[in-house]
Amino acid sequence: MGGSRGREKLMTCESCHRQVPRGKAVEFEKRSVFSTDLRTADNIFTVSSNTVYYCISCAKHRKIFEKKKQIAQRRGERRSE
Ligand SMILES: [Zn+2]
Repeated sequence: MGGSRGREKLMTCESCHRQVPRGKAVEFEKRSVFSTDLRTADNIFTVSSNTVYYCISCAKHRKIFEKKKQIAQRRGERRSE
């Protein structure tokens, strides 16, 4: 086992900032919505998503696996609230 594994890229855990090999890091798409606080038609929403990584223990602790499952289900339905 092993041997053919090249150098893995290290990702930084978003939570504990530990370096995790990419293969063991848990990828999670974080979405943040920015909006101006105007209650008019000019209110601008900007949705930005960026991908963050967690180590396994932080992912478990933060229930990332469950969230990922929920997001996957929501994407399957494709219904706006
Ligand atoms: Zn961590």
